[in-house]
Amino acid sequence: MVVTPMPWQHDLWQRLIRQQDAGQLAHALLISGPHGVGKHDLANALVARTLCHAPGDVACGECHACHMLASGYHPDLLDVAPAEKRRQIRIDPIRQVNAFVSQTAQQGGYRVIRLHPAEAMNVAASNALLKSLEEPGAKTLFVLLADIPSRMLPTVRSRCQQWSLGVPEPHSALAWLSEHFDDVEQARFWLRVAGGLPQFAVELAAGRGLRQELSEAFDALVRGAEPVAEAARLDPQSLDRVLWYGIVWLEDLIRLGVSGEAQYVRNPDLLPLYRQAAKNARVRDWFRLLDYAREQRRLIAAGGNPNAQLVLEAWLVRWASLLRS
Ligand SMILES: [Zn+2]
Repeated sequence: MVVTPMPWQHDLWQRLIRQQDAGQLAHALLISGPHGVGKHDLANALVARTLCHAPGDVACGECHACHMLASGYHPDLLDVAPAEKRRQIRIDPIRQVNAFVSQTAQQGGYRVIRLHPAEAMNVAASNALLKSLEEPGAKTLFVLLADIPSRMLPTVRSRCQQWSLGVPEPHSALAWLSEHFDDVEQARFWLRVAGGLPQFAVELAAGRGLRQELSEAFDALVRGAEPVAEAARLDPQSLDRVLWYGIVWLEDLIRLGVSGEAQYVRNPDLLPLYRQAAKNARVRDWFRLLDYAREQRRLIAAGGNPNAQLVLEAWLVRWASLLRS
């Protein structure tokens, strides 16, 4: 199996491998960009090519190294991620990184450390990593991935060569999405909901039931339903996604409130709900709700353990008070 970057990353990939072949690639890379833009695909393709014994533009897919990688274990690749059920990367796995880079590669090539999400490192872990980033030794490649690099320690960030991935051109996103959707209108719809991020569009479409449940709950709130009862119908496990949808809908509402033009909203099917909401609240109120949701999501990302059911209730209670006159 050949590991390739996503089609819309073609130009970036060519730049990357030209630098790699010229020996100009830094020993530590930070690949950043929003969730669903294809950071992992780019990183995986680079990791595979770096470890491959006979790489062309991409890893060959046939050598011993490629086979090991495909089987899920390569002795010269170390993956670092938060321990299960935790959101932080703590110092222990970083100590393993430091031990790993002090050994020589077993296959005689590169040692590669793939770390995700880089913003999940706590301060102790970040500081411990600095040592290896500063004195990595020969033939070492760090590949750090981050959705929100601004949450990383600046000293770590500044020691990495940054590759930031933007939203792809719609035509290349849609070309790729055509393999995942039966009809192009569906692909267009979900790409718009996902803010232009193709892989996120596929993920959201796969979880379309939640979006449906949420819009029904909001319709019910407009009609006077009890927010606590509506919150009880939602899966507390989906809290982060519920908040995310709320944020996107608020951004739509604010766009609509400011411009009055429907063409800019990301969720055109929700316009009747938006119009109802806009009748009853002011832009200032939406911003307040936005702040609340962003703060809750930040707490979740930081490993805080909010009572999901209570936050869902509080969230719908806040909406209800704005959706009704
Ligand atoms: Zn290979």
